[in-house]
Amino acid sequence: MTLNDLSNLNLNRDNSVVMPMLFVGHGSPMNAIEENEFVTGWRSQAATLPRPSAILCISAHWETRGTYVTAMAKPQTIHDFGGFPCELYQVQYPAPGNPGLANEVTKLITGTPVFPDEKWGLDHGTWSVIKHFYPEADIPVVQLSINYLMSPRHHYELAKELAILRSKGVLIVGSGNIVHNLRVLNWSNPNEGYDWAINANEKVKSLILKNDYTSLIDYTSLGNDVKMAIPTAEHFLPLLYILGLKKENEELSFFNDKAVYGSLTMTSVRVG
Ligand code: ZN
Repeated sequence: MTLNDLSNLNLNRDNSVVMPMLFVGHGSPMNAIEENEFVTGWRSQAATLPRPSAILCISAHWETRGTYVTAMAKPQTIHDFGGFPCELYQVQYPAPGNPGLANEVTKLITGTPVFPDEKWGLDHGTWSVIKHFYPEADIPVVQLSINYLMSPRHHYELAKELAILRSKGVLIVGSGNIVHNLRVLNWSNPNEGYDWAINANEKVKSLILKNDYTSLIDYTSLGNDVKMAIPTAEHFLPLLYILGLKKENEELSFFNDKAVYGSLTMTSVRVG
């Protein structure tokens, strides 16, 4: 990157503050318009963050062949779900993009090519959460896609290349769910998890607390409960980005740590 590139960025360059990071369990898209304990948890976290210069979100809902970063000035609000009430389709989150940040991301990541994207926008993994963080939609938001051809280890390593953005006031958010098995949702029990779901959630949390990221990267070897909890990678991988970026002695805490509908956990992680 050249000095000229840096000068084009409208980012906070105060290196004394390293922005905290969040992995957010986003759950149902309805959280975008409901008032509930999870939304309250999101707001409380946002209220204690320094004001970001921009947000970079890795959402479970943008899987691509190759790695892309949204580079448009005005990202559209994407309603990437079906069968929900009209009210949810009317939600718009008109936060600006940040083409300068997108350009920087394409240069920072060297382990794989990163291409600017002009077509995506903000999917519900991003806006259903960020709208509660910053309801004014006045902080630029950029999304980084999840390349479904890459291994969990590769995602974890790629994340590390983004570290400098934290010193430029960029809030990095991973949006997914630790336990996410929609095939066996128990609609009649919104406030509890199956035993295997609770076990898997606790196992992942304990490995996070032990800094045993190797086991988390190799999550398919963690036994049957975790296999049930993580049937596909996309909702889990955003967590690996946040762990990849965590510095060794940084503080880490959990919030919204609860199972819902049997096979989903809303467990979220704050670093820093
Ligand atoms: Zn989701």
